[in-house]
Amino acid sequence: MSASAPAPVAYRGRFAPSPTGPLHFGSLLAAFGSWLLARHAGGEWLVRIEDLDPPREVPGAAERQLAALAGFGLVSDRAPVRQSERHALYQAALDRLLDAGAAFPCPCSRSELAAQAGIHRRCVATILRARPGYRLRVPDAATVAFEDGLQGRIEQDVARDVGDFVLRRADGYWAYQMAVVVDDAVQGITDVVRGADLLDSTPRQILLQRALGLPTPRYLHLPLVLDADGRKLSKSSAALPVDPADPLPALRRCWSLLGQAPAVSKGAATIGDLLHRTVNHFDPALMPARLNFHPHPTTTGEVTLSHAVPGGDAP
Ligand code: GLU
Repeated sequence: MSASAPAPVAYRGRFAPSPTGPLHFGSLLAAFGSWLLARHAGGEWLVRIEDLDPPREVPGAAERQLAALAGFGLVSDRAPVRQSERHALYQAALDRLLDAGAAFPCPCSRSELAAQAGIHRRCVATILRARPGYRLRVPDAATVAFEDGLQGRIEQDVARDVGDFVLRRADGYWAYQMAVVVDDAVQGITDVVRGADLLDSTPRQILLQRALGLPTPRYLHLPLVLDADGRKLSKSSAALPVDPADPLPALRRCWSLLGQAPAVSKGAATIGDLLHRTVNHFDPALMPARLNFHPHPTTTGEVTLSHAVPGGDAP
């Protein structure tokens, strides 16, 4: 699994969009946050296209997302990799787990698991399927804890809350958990910075890293941008695409949402100038763990923002 790994560095971060639509504001916040943290640490920043799920993907979206990121001055330090071209890596990892007895083929369907709240602890399928899915065998006492860089200590009993989770689906597609763990390791990612909607995936990813004998990166989950009704931006009507032709206002809003002094970004006239100023003044200690945010800017371009003390009330 290490054949194509780049040389180890002290900090290598990444932004990993799924090409299911245009880049929206919540994604830009995650991209800019992960970029700032990488640059602040003097590290690398990579973009990885997570095109694992063709039925959910929009043709051309990956190219448009990369072009949009470039419009915001956020360009991967290495050629972006695409998960659709890395099946052999995921298969090698699955084979290792199967050989070790840590994974198993599973014929159960969702409807068959419904009676157990969708949680798999043993196979309950009534018919054998020609193409099973594959799951990780989650040990009975599988409480995973980690220290999130922003959200504090996170703990989850994976056996009780999730069960044996899918690595490869019965339709042949790789599960996100499998691909993300393999790619973060193969790419030598030291720091995963992403939205807090993925916080509850992290214990599964750590369990999988352990089963594969892979290192666990540091994790930092940025607060989600909620709309005025407290809904996740990506699920609300406010999930508007950002406009890379007019990048400064959206990046200024992201900068403020990341808890940083608005004055730093205000005077910047170009995207290069804004990125230069922000990276020089970025203070990770100011980042909020929570946001209560109305996504529409006021007429002055300011955002309305109230947030919890960083790290103050972790779940
Ligand atoms: N591809 C995932 C998404 O767009 C993000 C995966 C990750 O950052 O781990 O939600």
